[in-house]
Amino acid sequence: MTAQLIDGKRIAQQVREEVALAVGRRVSAGKCIPTLATLLVGNRPDSAAYVASKSKACMELGMGSVSEHLPEDATQEQVEALVKKLDADPEIHGILVQLPLPAHLDEERVLSLISIEKDVDGFSPLNIGRLAQKGRVPLFMPCTPYGCIYLLEKSGVKIEGANAVVLGRSNIVGLPAALLLLSKNATVTVCHSRTKDLAAIIRQADILIAAIGKSEFVSGDWIKPGAAVIDVGINTIADPTKKSGKRLVGDVNFNEAKEVAGWITPVPGGVGPMTIAMLMKNTLTAAELQSS
Ligand code: NDP
Repeated sequence: MTAQLIDGKRIAQQVREEVALAVGRRVSAGKCIPTLATLLVGNRPDSAAYVASKSKACMELGMGSVSEHLPEDATQEQVEALVKKLDADPEIHGILVQLPLPAHLDEERVLSLISIEKDVDGFSPLNIGRLAQKGRVPLFMPCTPYGCIYLLEKSGVKIEGANAVVLGRSNIVGLPAALLLLSKNATVTVCHSRTKDLAAIIRQADILIAAIGKSEFVSGDWIKPGAAVIDVGINTIADPTKKSGKRLVGDVNFNEAKEVAGWITPVPGGVGPMTIAMLMKNTLTAAELQSS
C-alpha cells in the first residue's frame, strides 16, 4: 500500500472531544447547553437509526437532544407546525429534519421553515447561497462535505490550486463539496451521470471526492498517482466470508486505489464518522451564535 490512510474514525473522535470540552466550558460558565432537535417522520429503519445515533452523540458530548417523531401519514400542516414550534423555541439551537420525508410531504417547504441560525444541516438555500457566493460566509456547512474538507486539511493535503474532481452533484454531498473546494481555491470539476469520459477527467484529479452510491465504481487506474481520494459512498455488497453475508464498500475500488493514491479514506471508518462529528460541531456553533 502506498497511500496514507486517512483515519476518519480517529479524526472524528478528536472533533467530538473538542466539542465536548467546549460544551463543558460553556456549562461551567453558566451558559445554556447546546441542544439539537431531530424530527423523524415515518418509520424508515435507516432514518430511525440515523436520528438515534445523532441523539446518542449529543448525550455523549454533554449536549441536549430533543427527539420528535411523527407518524408516516402526518400531514404537511402537522409537520410544518412542529418545525415552526421548534424554530421558535429558544432552548433549541439546531434543527435536523431527517430526510427523505415521506413522498406526500413537500420537503423544500418544510426545510424553508428552519431559520438560518438553526440550520445545522447547512441545507437551507440561504446557507448554500452564501457558500456559493464569493466573499459570503455560510453560518453552517453541510456536515458530510464539511467532514471531507476537514479530513483533507487535517491530513495536510494542499487544496489551494489543486485540481479537484467531485463525482456526484447531489444537494447534500456533491454540490456543497464542490462549492467548499472552490471556496478554498481549488480548481473544481463536477462530474455526474451525463459526464463523458469520466476516467480521463478523474485522472487529472489531485483531489477526488467520490459520492455517487455505486459500489467500487472508480477503479485504481483512474486515480492520478499521489492523489488524495475521499470516498463518501456507502454501499452494501454480498460477502460470503462475513457472518452477516455482506459488507460495506465505497464508490472507489479501495484495494486498487490504495496502491496509487497519496491519501485515501477507507469505507467504513473514513467519511462516515465525520458526518455526525461535524453536526455536533455545527450545533455547538449554533448555540454560540444564538446565546452569549
Ligand atoms: P444521490 O443519489 O443523491 O446522488 C448521486 C449522484 O451521483 C448524482 O449527482 C448522480 O448524477 C451521480 N451519479 C450516479 N450514477 C453515476 C454514474 N454512473 N456516473 C457518474 N455520476 C453518477 O446520492 P448522495 O449524494 O446522497 O450519496 C452518494 C453516496 O454517498 C451514497 O453511497 C450515500 O450512501 C453516501 N453518503 C454518505 C454519507 C456519509 O456520511 N458518509 C452521507 C451522505 C451520503 P445525476 O445528478 O446526473 O443524477
